[in-house]
Amino acid sequence: MIPLTSELVAIGKTATDKADAIAQAVDLLTAAGKIDPRYGQSMMGREAVANTFLGNGIAIPHGLPQDRDLIHDTAIAVVQLPAGVEWAPGDTARLVVAIAAKSDEHLQVLSNLTDVLGDEAEAERLATTLDAAVIVARLTGAEPPAPRPEAAPEDFAQGFDVVVRGAHGLHARPATTLVDLAKGFAAEIRVRNGARVANAKSLISLLNLGAAQGAALRISAEGEDATAALAAIAAAFEAGLEEEEDTGAAAPEAATPGLTGAGASMASYEGRTLVGISSSPGYALAPVFRFARDEVVFDTDAADAAFENDRLEAALQTAWHELEELHDEVWKKSGPARAAIFRAHQEFLHDPEMVEAAKALIGQGRSAGFAWHQVFSERADMLASMKDAVLSGRAIDLRDAGQRVLQHLGTVQTGETHLPSVPCILLADDLTPSDTARLDPALVRGLATAQGGPTSHTSIIARALDIPAVVGVGAGLLDLPTGTSVLLDGGAGVIVVAPTATDIAKAETAMAALKTQREAEARERYKPALTVDGARVEVVANISDVAEAVASVEAGAEGVGLLRTEFLFVNREAPPSEDEQVAIYSAMLEALNGLPIIIRTLDVGGDKEIPYLRMPVEQNPFLGERGIRFCLSHEDLFRTQLRAIYRASAKGHVRIMFPMIAMVQELDTARRIAEEVRAEVGAEPVEIGIMIEIPSAVMMAPELAKRVDFFSIGTNDLTQYALAMDRMHPVLAKQADGLHPAVLRLIDFTVRAADAAGIWVGACGGIAGDPMGAAVLSGLGVRELSVSIPAVAGIKAQLRRSSMAENRDLARRALAAVDAAEVRGLK
Ligand code: PEP
Ligand code: MG
Repeated sequence: MIPLTSELVAIGKTATDKADAIAQAVDLLTAAGKIDPRYGQSMMGREAVANTFLGNGIAIPHGLPQDRDLIHDTAIAVVQLPAGVEWAPGDTARLVVAIAAKSDEHLQVLSNLTDVLGDEAEAERLATTLDAAVIVARLTGAEPPAPRPEAAPEDFAQGFDVVVRGAHGLHARPATTLVDLAKGFAAEIRVRNGARVANAKSLISLLNLGAAQGAALRISAEGEDATAALAAIAAAFEAGLEEEEDTGAAAPEAATPGLTGAGASMASYEGRTLVGISSSPGYALAPVFRFARDEVVFDTDAADAAFENDRLEAALQTAWHELEELHDEVWKKSGPARAAIFRAHQEFLHDPEMVEAAKALIGQGRSAGFAWHQVFSERADMLASMKDAVLSGRAIDLRDAGQRVLQHLGTVQTGETHLPSVPCILLADDLTPSDTARLDPALVRGLATAQGGPTSHTSIIARALDIPAVVGVGAGLLDLPTGTSVLLDGGAGVIVVAPTATDIAKAETAMAALKTQREAEARERYKPALTVDGARVEVVANISDVAEAVASVEAGAEGVGLLRTEFLFVNREAPPSEDEQVAIYSAMLEALNGLPIIIRTLDVGGDKEIPYLRMPVEQNPFLGERGIRFCLSHEDLFRTQLRAIYRASAKGHVRIMFPMIAMVQELDTARRIAEEVRAEVGAEPVEIGIMIEIPSAVMMAPELAKRVDFFSIGTNDLTQYALAMDRMHPVLAKQADGLHPAVLRLIDFTVRAADAAGIWVGACGGIAGDPMGAAVLSGLGVRELSVSIPAVAGIKAQLRRSSMAENRDLARRALAAVDAAEVRGLK
């Protein structure tokens, strides 16, 4: 008998045509050392003279007799194609059994197959099973493995019939409800759809029923509480399995409500939506382009199965908790319907069939990472091949959930980066500042990332470039094949896959309204932001290069409130020389023509890594050598930059600002060095300020205020340090909202300390450019708001419409709120 092992069986594959299917089988045989790959040509040669389709979805490609010497060792390989491939006109193969036989050993396989030929249900079982061992057992004639509940053909005696009512059939959400319910009972519960039978406690097997709207199901149960279980399930079906009538997406309300001003959309789309967090408002309609994907690298084999099982359990646990938090967060912001998908993701992780299959692979000497990857990928491929669009769409969710676990089982490696050369919506896991700095806004119409939050640098840059963006969509985003047409709604934080004509028309109407509003604001952009009761708030811009200095003036900014000089250091081999920096700062001052600019000294570290600076590898880079700390330990670099700033300062209105000051002593040292450099250069003194972005600086604000001319609040970092939530964290970043009362109270304390010392306070973090943030910050006494260039005209217009008395009242109520959501809800 031919030995057939699971390695020679590929489950849940797809093939473009017969040749592709044969090539996949040949790859399996070659990889196992059974044949010379040229035997594939021999198989194709046979197809040219004979049809190897047996019937009942089974084909048996095999080579020509004269090529037997290309066979090293008699073997068969099986490629399962649940969606089928055309073998000959009118013949669709779903099980491709490729035979490489030196003599007649394969006859036994053929005889076993002959049995299957007469049994449609059996052929169906082999074409759809998720378990390679089932095929191995059937073809080798060995005893089939103990039947899994979901593979059992028989219904239990007790049961009822029901018809699937939901428009999208038994898709992930209702199936999750059913699983949740079924798990509450000890009874074994089966769901039959035609020839397929599923375990009601396994989401995957329920999805694999392919039960579309109108499908007639038989639900049966056996066990002590079977009667109660069936009654509960019948009632749940009657109630619609928690399906909403309208399955169109509602946008996650106020995910980043700061961006809900002009063009904000609480859209409901007909196309399938992927939901993320609003990062930069606006719409984009274009094909997607996948930037680069972080790959999780893992070992293939591992000797200690018990250890690997523990690792798998731990990874599943961690991922489950992450999903729990996500669920709660989305539930709070957008309600139970939106949050339900994360419950489905959790179900994937607890799916008994999947976990068992992964452990079986571990038992065969595979590592936990390899086993888990194999199991979820195979099942996701299988779902993806389903004809029902809603069910096949669940492949993205399964991959998303699977990938979440995998990240805890391997090492994450960043792939090669490449940028698009055609207009597109760029998809990425996340983007580093140097990636984003290279983006061409003419080609990148929209930006969507799997990770990240609204204060990540991806978001900052997207807003600066006025590119509509959605962040934190989840790993499933990266499964969208390059070229897929999508509609991105940055204000709502959603991506609509295959938008309908209605979706497109809706977006076009909103785009037109946004354009009209922006044009009206742009016409008034040079008017100062004077509130109706006569208070003045300066609106300045955040920039990172000379072109943006020019653009900021054009956009109506009254100066530059933050020059992120680190961007002058990225995408090069060495730091810019002193002369180069003088030229850059001078060009900016020329563009600003007398308007002030705050030049922040180099703020690297954290997520802003510059390879040639050989920054230390740290466990917690955001708590490591960042900002001023890095400059003080690389004094040459710091002095060079200060020399350049002072040399350029004669050409305009320069202010210097030090980032990441945590302690008085750091400021004193930085000031001393700056003063020494100024004296060397022979420049006039300039105003010196610091970023307030670390809670210790807030608490020391009374002392710090005596030593500087101004404060600028970095709400992005202040938020992450106050809430202890990494601004880059794939899950937590979304909650790191600068309008949290904890952050606002720190700002209030800072402003009071500054007022007492007679210095002014600005803000340059993300919430300064958020309509709610601008109102609250100005009400707290922040006098200058430094925002992304595209936001300048809108924020000025908003302030002109408001009254300072109202903003103060709003700020007072915001300080008394319990969380950011409450602040966001204030009127
Ligand atoms: C901030 O932290 O809010 C800030 C403006 O600085 P950066 O985003 O560059 O860290
Ligand atoms: Mg900062």
